[in-house]
Amino acid sequence: MDSWNTEQLASDDKRYVWHPFTSMGEWCAPDHEPIVLVGGKGAMVRDSRGREYIDGNSSIWTNVHGHNHPRINAAIREQLERVAHTSFLGSTNPPAIKLAREIVNLFPEEKFGRVFYSDDGSTGIEAALRIVSQYWKLKGSKREIFISFRNAYHGDTAGAASLGAAAMFGGSIEGFHFPLRRVASVGELSETPDSDEVAAVVIEPIIQGAAGMRVWPDGTLRRLREWCDKVGTLLIADEVMTGFGRTGRMFACEHEGIQPDLYIFAKGLTGGYLPLAITLISHKIYEPFGDKNSDATLFYGHSYTGNALGCAAALASLEIFRLENTIEALAPKIEALHRGLQALAQVGVEETRSCGMIGAIDLAGGGRCAEQVCRVARERGLLTRHIRSTVTLMPPLIVSISQLERALEILNEAVEIVVSRTA
Ligand code: PLP
Repeated sequence: MDSWNTEQLASDDKRYVWHPFTSMGEWCAPDHEPIVLVGGKGAMVRDSRGREYIDGNSSIWTNVHGHNHPRINAAIREQLERVAHTSFLGSTNPPAIKLAREIVNLFPEEKFGRVFYSDDGSTGIEAALRIVSQYWKLKGSKREIFISFRNAYHGDTAGAASLGAAAMFGGSIEGFHFPLRRVASVGELSETPDSDEVAAVVIEPIIQGAAGMRVWPDGTLRRLREWCDKVGTLLIADEVMTGFGRTGRMFACEHEGIQPDLYIFAKGLTGGYLPLAITLISHKIYEPFGDKNSDATLFYGHSYTGNALGCAAALASLEIFRLENTIEALAPKIEALHRGLQALAQVGVEETRSCGMIGAIDLAGGGRCAEQVCRVARERGLLTRHIRSTVTLMPPLIVSISQLERALEILNEAVEIVVSRTA
């Protein structure tokens, strides 16, 4: 095993690094020792002191088939031997072409035609907004209002953040670039007075993630699709968190048998190995851009668009889904998570719920209590995070039933300890 100088790494981190969504004052406090992760295998990760943890939040909801999967490792290495990255402006590359074809072919042929690559969930959403805005302009339409749902989170670039997460930015990002309306439910949409000006509705299908793992009532997606069709607007499905098996189906929209007009995939797209996003676009939306009599150009893209290493990892991940029957193998794990969470109802727990391989525990003691539960869990070998007063459990899909049961046991103990301390 490699040996690491944890003290030096921690001190250099505190001296030179700025972490996202982190109070750096607390992070750099002398009594805080950052976990320095140096290795991973399957659903486990290892720190620089040799301690092992269950990866209880799939490394920020990204990991699917486990860490160090030989097939993804080999695919990345093989591509690396050829070339790591080449421009997608003015040239193309085989893994990006192959991946686009495979992704399009996962869906009904008559619906989706084009893949637009970007770097992460936020830029995938940003691309969707630009595409939709430009689409309506090309069609000579006045549709420019975007509708999103209360408590939504669609990323933190300015356009994506204006759809949700506004509170995190003190409201200052609201409506930036894109006229925006926010609704609490699909029912509220029927009160939209100017539905002929709505460019698109954006939703996290089946479950809102950063809102605290809030599951939509049954039928929400179907009713939303119907409303969009009725008023002639577009539906954008943000499957950044839910895509690639997380809810028990390959994609969350499958639960209600609907197709949006655009999908956004990121996080699990590469199996959680490399940053890559896809905005999948219907034939209908692509049509005015592809018209041979038009010079319409989408003015959006980044240096690492269509990165060959990321696309190679994503192709390998799709192959693993086929070879390991990943989705079919989930049923007993989903059941174990569901049962385990029900058994966790105890003093201090307000509610537990699950949706596929996503578990959530709402704690009566609020955000501080949830933070302490995560800290105690970490000492016992489970890494996870909380969203305000909700502790989440969503390990890689590859997790074994015994690892899942151990994770639930640790959470149970952690809640007991924290609640008894504060009683
Ligand atoms: N959309 C959803 C539903 C998300 O959960 C997230 C991130 O958690 C994003 C978009 C943004 O993705 P990223 O952090 O990769 O930019």
